[in-house]
Amino acid sequence: MTHEPFDTEAAAYALGALEGEQLARFETHLAEGCARCLAALREAGDMAVVLAADAAPAVPPTAVREALLRRVAAEASPARRQAESARWWTSWATAAAAAVLVAALGGLFVQGRYEPRLAALGRETAALKEELERQARALGQRQADAAIAQMLRDPATRVLTLRGAGPIPTAEARLLWQQEAGGWLVVTNLPPAGAGNAYELWTISGGRPTPAGVFNVDASGRATHRVEPVAQAVDVFAVTVEPEAGVAAPTGPIVLASR
Ligand SMILES: [Zn+2]
Repeated sequence: MTHEPFDTEAAAYALGALEGEQLARFETHLAEGCARCLAALREAGDMAVVLAADAAPAVPPTAVREALLRRVAAEASPARRQAESARWWTSWATAAAAAVLVAALGGLFVQGRYEPRLAALGRETAALKEELERQARALGQRQADAAIAQMLRDPATRVLTLRGAGPIPTAEARLLWQQEAGGWLVVTNLPPAGAGNAYELWTISGGRPTPAGVFNVDASGRATHRVEPVAQAVDVFAVTVEPEAGVAAPTGPIVLASR
């Protein structure tokens, strides 16, 4: 016989929900001094066992055995027998309560066994994800560099300068721009936007700002941001500080602006 059934019975026992033959079998098993079941009962907060085990922590502890035997006697008392023969719903209710506790304890067992492995797996996955993201950034930067080089060779490309405005006067950016093809914004000397924030680019046509994407700078204050083409001729390009998800209309201070 495997130990498996005792794992769940220990939980039910702690709740006083074991009955009849099952109860007798489990208490016989406990009285033999099973360390695993004692540990499970301790987990479940069975005070009799906790106190006894604390008094004599060596295994097999006589004190524990005595405590259990006292409990066997108490459980087998006439009052208990009467309770056992009570209306059917009493045992149904205790069984239901036991099922809840068994489920909770089952969770604890699974946690104890698998948590270290899951944690290790989680660390490996996080490291792998980080490396993939680093590679993706490097690839994205190479693709951006190639696209920028191509735009620079194209005589149709306009090169606009955005100057630091308001709170960050040292910031600077170049915008390689073609009305029909869009372009690239290359930013330097811009400090990080701060936790929960990002920079948002706006194309302003006829006094109306239209969102042109959010970006963040790297540790050295640089950013390369792809700008999609727009239908209307753009009068001004501007960058504001906004919540990182971006907003539909500018709310934060302008930190970069063309003209
Ligand atoms: Zn056991």
